[in-house]
Amino acid sequence: MKTIKISIYYPVDKITVPLVSTLIKEFDLQVNILHADISLNKTGTLVADVIGENKNVDDALRFIEEQGIGYKLFNKQLIWHEELCVHCGACTAVCPSHALTMSRETWNLEFDKEKCLVCGLCTKACPLNVMSLQD
Ligand code: SF4
Ligand code: SF4
Repeated sequence: MKTIKISIYYPVDKITVPLVSTLIKEFDLQVNILHADISLNKTGTLVADVIGENKNVDDALRFIEEQGIGYKLFNKQLIWHEELCVHCGACTAVCPSHALTMSRETWNLEFDKEKCLVCGLCTKACPLNVMSLQD
């Protein structure tokens, strides 16, 4: 089994391709959608964690290419050096997926790794360089 984080780019003329349902039905994959921006007559993006047997994941990536749909794999992960964090909240303002939020009870920063898109915006927003992207 393997898990990949993928960003899929739909050209305008492919926006109606039922890609996610095909990945689930034909390739027996779990697709956990983290972010989607899909509208008719526009290019679209979808970010997801994809989980499945190695061969099925590889076959699915080939299938996506054959559809004329682009994709990029995320090879990095976000590391939060929690012990150095002062919980100022600056990073929450730039996080597009709400992976970073302030607890309403403790007013401490909370990081939901599952929602992270590995965009790196928080690494630039943090005044103490407490966030970093690593392979
Ligand atoms: S890299 Fe940072 S800003 Fe981007 S989604 Fe992950 S936590 Fe949010
Ligand atoms: S911006 Fe940096 S110091 Fe402030 S809450 Fe986020 S990680 Fe912590």
